[in-house]
Amino acid sequence: MVIVGAGQAAAALARALREQGFSGDIRMLGEELEPPYERPPLSKQVLLEGRAPDALWLLDDDARLAQGVTLSTSTRVRQIDRAAREVLTDAGEAIPYETLVLATGGVARRLPGLAVDGRRVFELRTLSDALALHTALRGACRVLVIGGGWLGLEVAAAVRQQGCEVTLAEAASRLCARSAPPELSEYLLALHRDHGVDVRLGACALPALGEDGLTLAPDAQPYDLAVVAIGLAARDELAAAAGLATADGVLTDCSGATADPDIFAIGDVARLCASSDGAGLRLESWRHAETQARLAAAAIVGQPLGYDEPAWFWSDQFGRLIQIAGLPTPDLELIEAEAGEKPLWRYGRGGEVETVIGVDRARDVRLAHRTLPSLASRIAGL
Ligand SMILES: Cc1cc2nc3c(=O)[nH]c(=O)nc-3n(C[C@H](O)[C@H](O)[C@H](O)COP(=O)(O)OP(=O)(O)OC[C@H]3O[C@@H](n4cnc5c(N)ncnc54)[C@H](O)[C@@H]3O)c2cc1C
Repeated sequence: MVIVGAGQAAAALARALREQGFSGDIRMLGEELEPPYERPPLSKQVLLEGRAPDALWLLDDDARLAQGVTLSTSTRVRQIDRAAREVLTDAGEAIPYETLVLATGGVARRLPGLAVDGRRVFELRTLSDALALHTALRGACRVLVIGGGWLGLEVAAAVRQQGCEVTLAEAASRLCARSAPPELSEYLLALHRDHGVDVRLGACALPALGEDGLTLAPDAQPYDLAVVAIGLAARDELAAAAGLATADGVLTDCSGATADPDIFAIGDVARLCASSDGAGLRLESWRHAETQARLAAAAIVGQPLGYDEPAWFWSDQFGRLIQIAGLPTPDLELIEAEAGEKPLWRYGRGGEVETVIGVDRARDVRLAHRTLPSLASRIAGL
């Protein structure tokens, strides 16, 4: 077993394979310096505190030993040779596989004309990005966050909590427009404005980098630094070059299997449940990476399972826990709304609830999660 990528999905896959009785060799190849770690804390605790908590690490030395995983960090795979059934690394090593799993995640999208330099302009995908941004914030007063999706909002909250003035520019007319219904967008807007974030909607910000910082017309004062958080592109280039079908993600069935029976894709890079009838869906969420790893492991050991759970996502902003159970697609109607300090919304069709969203309503959302339709059935209906 060769796993390309050493992030969350890769670590979850190694664990699931052993739990499900896989006894072969597992070789994990990751281009980052560090062994696998959790990314959600990067835009929360790590950005606030400037250090990696112990709970960040997913596959420490003991776990690697116990699971019999051979991990090579700082090792980038540059090619898959499907005919020879091997992968080639940047260092020129050819590593044979019987089964290959692509868990390569994604890369932060960049703004043309605004280079990420780690000095004035930042992005946030890796532990080193988070630590570098935390350090730069010590000398910053005015910060521009570009992108009002989940990552941009979490960064804006963490930066504001450190006392900086924060402007958040979002090109769309509402926050998290691609992944949240209007009621949640409204809630997030009020939350950020109440905490003093200058949220600008319908604003395509492209600051100019000069001697005194970043200038953004018509603002008189320059910004000390900017964080670009405008989404993620799947790292599917290895698969595409090897002749596998891709479309912003590697196309797989609901268990992560590609058209090549020896190759799977899981986590942020996979566009799952793709078929001749449907485009499938690529999801970027912690829970989804865990679930896909479990399903791929089951398929690899010959006991395939269906994607039997609803989607699940959470975010932390200004001490508020926002949880989404189910897939909040635009075709759903608002069935019920509980307003107040801790709102809850239920969405569905024909009176049947398919998605529940709550703020500081962990118990209610967890209970609802058990009753919602599975992700596979939701994708089939899209
Ligand atoms: C800052 C941040 C905050 C988040 N917060 C939340 C949250 O609050 N809630 C939530 O549900 N989800 C959150 N997520 C999303 C969640 O962390 C991801 O969905 C999850 O990490 C996906 O796991 P993955 O293994 O697919 O990708 P990753 O964890 O990104 O791992 C992919 C790894 O593959 C490596 N790689 C890529 N190409 C190669 C190659 N050719 N050779 C070798 N290695 C390669 C990469 O360097 C990377 O280390 C957050 C993500 C980020 C970045």
